[in-house]
Order: sequence, then structure tokens, then C-alpha cells
Amino acid sequence: MANAFRKATHEQTRVHNRCLVLKIIYDQERISRAAIARMTQLTRATVSTAVGDLIEDGLVREVGLTSSTGGKPATLLSFVDDARHVISLDLANREFRGAVINLRGQILYRKNVPILPTDRDGTLGLLSILIDDLLREATRPVLGIGIGVPGIVDIEQGVIRHTIHLDWQNLALRAILAARYGLPIHMANDSHAAAIGEYMFGPYEDGASLLVLRIGPGISAGIVLNGSLHYGDGFAAGEIGHVSIQHNGQVCRCGHIGCLETLVSRKVLLESARAIAASDPDSKLHQFAASPDAICSTDIVLAAFSAGDQAICNLIAGMGRHLGMAVATLVGVLDVQHILVAGSMARFGEALLNPMRLEMERCVHYELAKHVRISPSYLGQDIVIQGAVALVLSKELGLA
Ligand SMILES: [Zn+2]
Repeated sequence: MANAFRKATHEQTRVHNRCLVLKIIYDQERISRAAIARMTQLTRATVSTAVGDLIEDGLVREVGLTSSTGGKPATLLSFVDDARHVISLDLANREFRGAVINLRGQILYRKNVPILPTDRDGTLGLLSILIDDLLREATRPVLGIGIGVPGIVDIEQGVIRHTIHLDWQNLALRAILAARYGLPIHMANDSHAAAIGEYMFGPYEDGASLLVLRIGPGISAGIVLNGSLHYGDGFAAGEIGHVSIQHNGQVCRCGHIGCLETLVSRKVLLESARAIAASDPDSKLHQFAASPDAICSTDIVLAAFSAGDQAICNLIAGMGRHLGMAVATLVGVLDVQHILVAGSMARFGEALLNPMRLEMERCVHYELAKHVRISPSYLGQDIVIQGAVALVLSKELGLA
């Protein structure tokens, strides 16, 4: 028993050291074994063993020598970006988005399929067809499949507890896909995935905290605290869209009154724009839509906004202020300094972000507010796809 325990501990230490060394090599362009030993405080022998394992696995390669400054030049190591491919999926509202991505987050192939109205088996079949296609396009061994799900995902059980647009309540998706593909499957709520993707691929220091606010059909946030994704006790951390912020507001689809989503969302944007077009014959919206009913995409509203429509500018500013109120609470609780805005509403840029910033500053203590940066997400439209890759890299290689 004691022997078995020692063996297990030894193996855990070896895996831990390997992850530590791999992370350093991943973060540096080129680095020597001696420099890794200095940075990790591991012995040269331990670093050499870990590097040997990583070279054997094809994840690291030797790429040349340091320029000599008198002593013996050292061999430099580099991460192999294409050592493995990852299958990444964003189960978005109207379509399943898939991609084959290398270990640096570079998208090599992508395919989107529209979700047709069908039952659970139908949508699962559609997902399998998409994954089959992506696997055919992967030209390296596949490290795993990462999935961002718009709903509540029990990441311990690998079960989707709830989604709004799919009939997938209490669906053991991880077991289903693992049985079919024999690959590691990692899933998370899409905003949670987005946050870990932003942290991994964005310009943030190691151990940073950040909050990604995704605004599209609904609003939710993903939270990274000191470099770790915060899931919450029920895997629903950051579900702020249904927090009521207006006592005498509208009834929300969840049954509550004055939820943030009744004030800010793509649906509210389009409905408000239609009302503006209907009441104002001079609205610039008429240049881009034949009638108020034809205003059915953010693109149309964005075009009128870019043309200088004042009512649309005011509408966006109002939404920014509501977001600022909601974010102020999160800043007050978490003291997070990076707030990133993603989703279709982020396309309005400073017209949305500036009022949001001002309202946040008005609502939260100056000492907290002065450090907060509110900006568009670094990853933009592909944030969930990149986030699903980050889940796999984090769980399989310890890279986040
Ligand atoms: Zn609600």
C-alpha cells in the first residue's frame, strides 16, 4: 500500500513537473534547459527528464543553440504548435460552429451547420456529422474535443443540465461523445469557455483576473479569478442576465421583472430600433431597411448608427449605462480589473463602452473603479471557439 502510494505520488510529481516545464516553453519563443531550471527552481536533471518526455511526445523540439558569450552554447527548445490538433465547437443559438485548431489557437479549418427544428436525436446526429467532418480535416493526432454550450453544464459529471435553444436537458453529452470518438471531451458553459480562452490567448499576465461579458441573445459573464476559471457551486457563475435591476420594469421571459436582459440584448436592440423607425420618418434606419419590420439584424442597426443616427446613439448609450450598473456590482464583489465585452453588441464599440465605464465609475468605490479597464474582447467573434480549445489545452496539457 505504502509502495503504491509512493509510486502514485512519484507519478503525480512527474506529471506536475512536465506541465510546469511545458507551460514555460509554451510561453517563451525559445528557451534553454538551464533557463527553465532557473525559472522553475527544478533541478537540471528533473528539467532534462521532463524535456525528454515532451520531445518524445512531439510537443517540444530542439531549434538551435544560444549565441555563445564565452561558455558552451546551450540548446534552445521551442513548442511545436502543430504537434496536435483540437476539435472545437461552439453550440451557438442558430448554428453549430466547429473548427480544427492547432495548439496555439490558430484556426485551420472551420465549418458551421444551421440547427434545423428537430428533436434531441436529430440535433445530436447533426453534431456527430459535424464532428466527423472536422476529424477528417485534422491532419495531426487529435488532443481532444472542446465544446462551449449555451446553458448550464455540470463539468464534473459531463452533463448538460439546461439549454434554452436545444432539447438537451440533463444530457450526458460527454459520455455519448467519448463512447463514439474515444477522445477526451471537455465542455463548459460558453461564457465560461470564452473567459478561459480570453485569458489564455489574450494579452494578460499570468495569474490575472478577468471578466468577459457576452451580450447577444442574452447576457452572461465568464469569470477568471487569479488564473482559474470560476464555475460557481452550481456551474452557473456569471448568469447575470436574469438579475433584476429595475423594480418597475418589463416582465422577462424567466418570469421576473426588470432583468438586465429586458434592458440590454440583441432582441431589445432590434425592437427598440423598429420603434424608432416607426415613429421617426427621418431616421437613418430607413436607408437600410425597407420597413420597420425589416430591421431584423444587428448589421442594419449598426449601419444606421455608423451613418450618425442620433436616436440609435442614445439607445446604445442607455444600454451601456445599464451594463455599467450591472458591472459595478461585479467589480464591487470581485475587484476584477479587466472587463472584456464580447458578442454582437460589442460591435458598437466606444458608443457602448464609454457610458458603461462612466456608470460603473459612478456606482462603485473610486479606489476599485480607478484600476478597471473596460474594453472589447481580444478574441472577438471566435471567442467561444477559442475558449473551447483553451478548455482542452488547460485540462490535457495544463497550459492555463
Ligand atoms: Zn429574466
